[in-house]
Amino acid sequence: MKILKFGGTSVGSAQRIKGLLDIVNPSERQIVVLSAVAGTTNALVEIGQAFLAGKKEEALELTKQHKHKYELLIKELFATEQGLAKGQNLIDYHFNYIASLGNEMFTPVEEKIILAQGELLSTTLFHFHLEEIGVPSVLLPALDFMKIDEDNEPMVEYIGEKLTNLLSIHPNNTLFITQGYICRNSFGEIDNLRRGGSDYTASLIGAAIQADEVQIWTDIDGMHNNDPRVVKNTTPIAHLSFDEAAELAYFGAKILHPQSVFPAQRYNVPVRLLNTMDPQASGTLISKDGGQTGQIRAIAAKDGITAIHINSSRMLLAYGFLRKVFEIFERYKTPIDMITTSEVAVSLTIDDTRNLGDIIKEVEDFGKVRVDHNQTIVCVVGDFSANTHGYAARVLDAVKHLPLRMVSYGGSDYNVSILLDTEHKTEALRSLHNRLF
Ligand code: ASP
Ligand code: MG
Repeated sequence: MKILKFGGTSVGSAQRIKGLLDIVNPSERQIVVLSAVAGTTNALVEIGQAFLAGKKEEALELTKQHKHKYELLIKELFATEQGLAKGQNLIDYHFNYIASLGNEMFTPVEEKIILAQGELLSTTLFHFHLEEIGVPSVLLPALDFMKIDEDNEPMVEYIGEKLTNLLSIHPNNTLFITQGYICRNSFGEIDNLRRGGSDYTASLIGAAIQADEVQIWTDIDGMHNNDPRVVKNTTPIAHLSFDEAAELAYFGAKILHPQSVFPAQRYNVPVRLLNTMDPQASGTLISKDGGQTGQIRAIAAKDGITAIHINSSRMLLAYGFLRKVFEIFERYKTPIDMITTSEVAVSLTIDDTRNLGDIIKEVEDFGKVRVDHNQTIVCVVGDFSANTHGYAARVLDAVKHLPLRMVSYGGSDYNVSILLDTEHKTEALRSLHNRLF
């Protein structure tokens, strides 16, 4: 069994929805996971926020506007009157439902129900389209099997059991369709896996039923070895290990949702990143064994980083110091990304600055604090385990003309990271690219 996930642009128009059959072979056993039509989740976020803010008229107006887009889409999607009528009923149902939620007390629970309508719409539209052209398919309601626990962690075993049951009801069907992104939480309420979560759905399903392969279909030909918006001549990475992919996913390699790597890795299901616009291209394969060892595979960057420097004589020869500092970040639920230490100082970075003011106030109890905004982490990812000399030197040599704020090496066998002012990012990415590839 294969899992094929298509993102918002791949179902972004009637044409694209019909075009899915260029890639999906209905006679092969597979589960197709779909995102909402491009732009829909953003629109639903706006609608939900307007309702939450008590701006009911505005929310209803936005709902009407967005419904109109779907009316245009179904006119193109369906060829028969029956098909069109079914499509119209479907969008009437979902958009009336959205509007009706504004009549009740509107809480974040209702907001999440609204966010779920996009995937429910896209999958049912695809299913109806297939029905109209005589291709059998089964719609699997994600809300019947995708579940997260009280810590918002997906319940992979539960998902596997439920899904296996659902599949066994249809032994003769091959093509199954389900919603990405949406799930139920531990209260049984409708919830979601956060923005961009459809990749995560696909990877969780792949893990839960031990699929042969998960395919993530987007509009790019795989993961590139550097940021194509900044550097010319980037190339797709043919083969990556799970460990390398995990390092890269965090660094804004936006084509894969950062969390998606872990379920696939844990249950050893290969993930392929493929391009809808060029289905024959080989894309990027992420699997346990990442191909050749001892290679530099990619350079990636993450902007919007804030560095916090704490200088404290109390750190000298003391134990428990770092724990006390880290506890502050923990209390404010703020993840720390990069750390470097000296005997009397520690520097660390965060990207979530919502509680920065409070954090700083508490950290100042430990010593002198300096905060640097507008920082970028540039990381070089590869398999450095086989041959552990020379990599850090090559990386540092490539950026020797730039002021570095932090350097981190040895945290894993797969990553050398540097922190610098965002104004030097472009130069760093280019110089590393020229020297390392
Ligand atoms: N539709 C959701 C979003 O836009 C999930 C996804 O596309 O992966 O975030
Ligand atoms: Mg996406």
